[in-house]
Parts: sequence; structure tokens; C-alpha cells
Amino acid sequence: MTFDPRSLARPWLLDVVPYTGEREAHGQDGLTLLDMNENPNGDGDGNTGLNRYPGPEVRALYARMARLYGRPENHLMISPGSDEAIGMLIRAFCTPGEHSILVNPPTFGMYALSAKVNGVAAKSVPMLADAKLDWTALSDAAEQDANARIIFLCTPQNPCGTAVPHDEILAFAKRHADRIIVVDEAYQEFADGPSLIDEPAGSLPNVVVLRTLSKAYALAGARIGCMIGEPGLVAIVKALQSPYPLPTPSVKAALAALSPAGVAQSKRQITELKEERDRLAAALSQHDDIETVFESQANFLFVTMRQADAWHQTLLNDFGILVRNQTKALPGGLRISVGTPRENDLLLQALGLAPAPKADRKAELKRETKETSIYCAVNLDKPGPSSIATGVGFFDHMLDQLTKHSGIAMVIATEGDTHIDTHHTVEDTMIALGQVLDQAVGDKRGILRYGHFDLVMDEARAQAAIDLSGRAHASFDGSFKADSLGGLQTEMVAHCIQSLAEKLRATIHVSVTGDNDHHKCEAVFKALAKALKMAVKIEGDALPSTKGLL
Ligand SMILES: *Cc1c(COP(=O)(O)O)cnc(C)c1O
Repeated sequence: MTFDPRSLARPWLLDVVPYTGEREAHGQDGLTLLDMNENPNGDGDGNTGLNRYPGPEVRALYARMARLYGRPENHLMISPGSDEAIGMLIRAFCTPGEHSILVNPPTFGMYALSAKVNGVAAKSVPMLADAKLDWTALSDAAEQDANARIIFLCTPQNPCGTAVPHDEILAFAKRHADRIIVVDEAYQEFADGPSLIDEPAGSLPNVVVLRTLSKAYALAGARIGCMIGEPGLVAIVKALQSPYPLPTPSVKAALAALSPAGVAQSKRQITELKEERDRLAAALSQHDDIETVFESQANFLFVTMRQADAWHQTLLNDFGILVRNQTKALPGGLRISVGTPRENDLLLQALGLAPAPKADRKAELKRETKETSIYCAVNLDKPGPSSIATGVGFFDHMLDQLTKHSGIAMVIATEGDTHIDTHHTVEDTMIALGQVLDQAVGDKRGILRYGHFDLVMDEARAQAAIDLSGRAHASFDGSFKADSLGGLQTEMVAHCIQSLAEKLRATIHVSVTGDNDHHKCEAVFKALAKALKMAVKIEGDALPSTKGLL
């Protein structure tokens, strides 16, 4: 039997012709727009575009999200949060009083709530005690009730955080090929296992996947979610969409979050959140009152705790920390979102667990101009992980030297207008790097402040001296024979030092002698790295200045 979503759809949706304005057909570039009764004021300088209905940005977001999820655009419905898609799916396929949905408590409350407000029954098939799905009971429930049209699964699960094994979902979806299986992957970016959207297109016609930018892309306030499925099914749900459901500011925020710099930033944040999740889990498992810390594949932890209600109140009233009371979902249950390292330390301290070691000195920055899109992050107290990608081969090689020999973790992702030349890419990258380094050294308390190194490399010799003085000054003494080395113009070497000094607010002197340009250039960056390593080193807790300010 082949699955036909049209046979399940509420019949009147099948011949709905979705609303489209004339602009969808003609585009709007260069046109005088008198077709939508908008207020024309606001098209001038500094305009936000908010006088116009959303248009080109939405099309750009469809293209961008199609690329992100590896599916054609007509497999996608972008909605104001994936919550919205849950309600739309219910309205598209369930008739009130006749059809029902199946849910697996404890699970995301929105499935049952959406069903309720739409007059549709939500039938519960509880999970097993260890937060595993009861597939047998779920299959029985589906087989006994042909009117149970949608089965909602969630992986990694909310609230327990555990992942449902991929092959078990596949087997279940294939076994119940006459039902719509919604797989809510709101936290998939934090999980180690594969996503359902990685399955071959067309192989799971009855499966709909929900994704969101709310969690991994730090955009909960923008309300951007995405439903992914076969085009026939997606078209039926889209018939329910109101005109222009996505506000322009949200769409712009989503496009920025999915720019090359944005994606690099999210990747870095996800790595850190996963590290913090694991640190927090290990620490919480030491608590006398905590019975279980569930193995989490999301950005939160679920624990069962003795005196959970009392702990919930204590955290709130005595420490101003709000965690989610889930004792109704599971006895003793508390759900704790992973916060920043500092926030997590506050929680651990409030629970009387060992005060965590001092937070690393780190900073990050996203910088977008017409010429470059840059994400740059550093951690002065960790040697890695680092990744450098600027699109300029030799410059990457130099920045690799800088991170390696300074022992400073650097994540640098630059996409620049290298089709013009590499100038902006190199300059803006050094500006961004200087800024994050300055931010990361913070109040400079306890640092050595001065650093210097004399580095030889075969016939080449470079000397670098740094003072993190708060005052920018750069001097470079040296010359190169070639104009360019692997895409890096040699005149940019002095310029790099200049940009770094300015943004790091440091005095930097570098000189180099030798024969071979490659050696000389590499010696410069290595000497700089070594001097920087020394200058940022912590040796005490005093401010290294007689003025009391740096
Ligand atoms: C947070 C969450 C959502 C909601 O996502 P939005 O896109 O913000 O509406 C969906 N499903 C689960 C399981 C969630 O935890």
C-alpha cells in the first residue's frame, strides 16, 4: 500500500488554492509597488522594509533552510515556531470528535494541548520507567484505533533528554505506514545520532520532521520553526497557513543566524553547551539527593531528586535560580537547562556542590559587513579545539601558527570578497581577532602583561615584543621579496600587526630578517604567538600597572 496523505486530509483542504500575491509571480525588484495597499513611506534611507509585506527575505530563508536541511524547498514549511506546525498538522488531518493523536508521556506538552484546543483527543501511551518508548503498547494502540491519525514522537525527548534509537523509529514508521508519524527533532543539533531528514528522500512518505531555530540557533524570540516532509503532505498543511506568517525582523534574524558566520557561531556554541552539559551531569550525579541524571542528548538535563519540590523552591527563593518543576511528569523530576559556564557554576554552588574552577577567559564575536562575514572565538585558557578557515590558504597557515604556538584556542571562520582580492578578508579577520582577544583578557588582573620572543627558523629570525598596555602602537621592521605568498599579500603582514595592535589595544614591535619569504613570514607569526602566550599568562592576581588601570 502506498501512503497517500490526501486520503487522510480533511477533504475541503484538497482544493484550497493558497493565497499568493502578484509579486510571487513577477518578483518585485525595480518595480513601483502599488499592488498591496502598503504605506509607501519607509522606502527611503535607513528604511527597515517594515512598511512592506514580507517577501524576498522569506524566499531567501526558504532557500537557506533547504540547504541547511538538505531537502528541496517544496519539502519545507517554515512556520512561526514549530509549535505552530504541531497545531496545523492536527487541523489538517484530524476531525474533532472523530480522530485522535497518540502521545507518549512524559513528553512535550504541546502535542496534547494543541489537540485539545482543536477538539481532538490525545491518547496516552506512557513511556517505560527508564524513559524508553513502549513500542509494543504504541503499536497496539495504533492497530486498535484506525482513527488515531497522527503519532507524535520526540527525539531527543523533552523532558527526559534521552534520544530514541534511530532504527527503532524507522522500523515503527515503516510498520505503521498508514499513519502520520511526526518526529519532533527540536534538539537534534545537540545529539550524536543521525536525523530522520538524512534518510533517502521518498523513503518515509508518512514521516514529518519538525526542526526549529529556537534552541540550537539561539532564536527562541524570533519564532522560526520548520516542518519537513514529502511535498504532497507539506502542501496540504500549507493550505492552512495565514498570509505572510513570518514577520520580516524574524526572517532577517534567521538569515543572519544561518549566514556563514552565524552557523560557525552556533557550531561553537553547541560544542560548548555539550561540554557544559556533560560537566553539569557529572557534578549533579554527586549530589546526595539526586537519584538519577538521565543521559541527555539535548541542551538540558533531567534529574529525579528526593525533595524535588523543596529543592525547586529553595533554588528559586534563596538563589534566584529557576529550573523546571516536572514532578507531575515524573515523580521527583526536575528539568534543568544548560546555561553559560557561570550560570551552571551558580547552580552547582546553590546545590552545595564543589565550587567549580575559575571560568576560562574567552570571548566571541560575529562581524558582518558588505565585504566580510566573520565569526571569531578565542579561549585564552585552552589550547583547542581550534579551526581556521578564511579562504586564504597562506593566511590560514599563519593563523594556525598563531593558535598553535600561543596555546590560545581560536575558531575563525571568514567568508570575504576574495573575488576582489584578499585585502578585506585579511584585514577584517585581524580586526575581529584583536577585538576578541581584548575582550578575553578582560580586566587584565593577574596577567604578565609583557611578552617577548626571539624566534629563529633556519636562516630567518623574528623578534616580537608585546605590551598589553591599553594603548595601541605597532611597529614592523622587515621586508619581503615577493608581493604575495599563497594569496596573502606580503604588505599585509605589517598591516596585520597594525590591526591586531589597534583592536587588542597593545603595543607590538616585530622585526624580521632572513632570505626566504615563507620562512620570514612564518617566523613573524610564530614569534608573535609566543610573545602573546607570555603576555596573557596569569601569574598572580594583581593588576600589572602602577596606575591601577590598563
Ligand atoms: C522547544 C520545543 C519546541 C518548540 O519549538 P518552537 O520552534 O520554539 O515553537 C518543539 N518541540 C519540542 C520538543 C520543544 O522542546
